[in-house]
Amino acid sequence: MVPTKDRNQIAVFLSYGSEGILFDCGEGTQRQFKIAGISLTKVTKILISHWHGDHVLGLPGLIQTLSSSDYSSKLEIYGPIGTKKRMEKMFEAFVFDKRIDFVVKEVKSGFFFENNEFQLGAYPLEHGIETIGFRFVEKDKRKIDMKKIKKFDIPNGPLIGKLQQNKPIEHKGKKINPDDATFIESGKKLAYITDTVLCDSCYDIADNVDLLICEATYSSKLVGKSEEYGHMTARQAAQLANKSNAKQLVLVHFSARYKNTQELEEDARDIFDNVICANDFMKIEL
Ligand SMILES: [Zn+2]
Ligand SMILES: [Zn+2]
Repeated sequence: MVPTKDRNQIAVFLSYGSEGILFDCGEGTQRQFKIAGISLTKVTKILISHWHGDHVLGLPGLIQTLSSSDYSSKLEIYGPIGTKKRMEKMFEAFVFDKRIDFVVKEVKSGFFFENNEFQLGAYPLEHGIETIGFRFVEKDKRKIDMKKIKKFDIPNGPLIGKLQQNKPIEHKGKKINPDDATFIESGKKLAYITDTVLCDSCYDIADNVDLLICEATYSSKLVGKSEEYGHMTARQAAQLANKSNAKQLVLVHFSARYKNTQELEEDARDIFDNVICANDFMKIEL
C-alpha cells in the first residue's frame, strides 16, 4: 500500500505480440516504464483489480502522458463494477488538455475478451470492496512437425499452411491428415490475484496456470491481521499454487513492514518449491 525506498506500488505488464496488458497501475507506474525501457504507448489494455489507491493512483498520470504522446490505439480499461463512475470522477478532478481515445468496460465474472490468440477472464474476489482477479489464457496452437513433413516430402508452401489450419491435404496421391504431420502446443496460462483473502474464485483463476502472480501481503505469523484486512499470507499463496497445480509462483504486494522479502519467500517455500518474491523490474519469459 505504501511505496518503499526499494519497492514501487503494484503494476504488472504483460507483453504479448502487439498487445500490452497492464494489470493495475499503482502510483509512479509511468516512471517505472521509463526505467524499464518500455514505451508507454505499448499499453493497449489496463486491467484494474479494484479501486484502492495503491492499485490505481498511477492512472491519471499515465493517461495524461499518453494524451501528449503519439498514442494511436484505443485504450481499453477493464475493471470491477463502479469503474465507469470512478473514471468519470477522475476526469472531473484533473484538467486534461487532450484526451486519448479510450473505452471503459465493467466486468463481473467470466471471459470478457477474446481474439484469435488469447482470452481474458475475471472472477470476483473477497476484499471488502468490489475486487476482481484476472486469468489470461493463450489458445492452443497447431504446430508443424518438421520430421514428419520431411518424411512425407511435403514442399514448403501452401500445403504446409493448410495442415497448420487443421485441413487435410493430398500429396503424391496420398491423403495426409493434420494429425499425421502436426501437433498441438498448449497455450500458456497466467493468473493475477490481488487483493483478497483465499477464496474459491482464487482456485478458478489459478487452475493449471504456467505462472501465478499472487499477493502475499503478510507472512503466516500475521495470519489473523491478514484475514482482518482482506489479504493473503505467503503461505496461503503457496497453498493455492500447490492445489491449483500452478507451475510457478511469483509473490507480489508486500506489506511495507518487510524490509526484505526473505521471510515471505521462506514462508511460501515450505509448501511450494518454485516460488520467488518479485522485485521491481523483474522480467519473466513464458
Ligand atoms: Zn493493495
Ligand atoms: Zn486493496
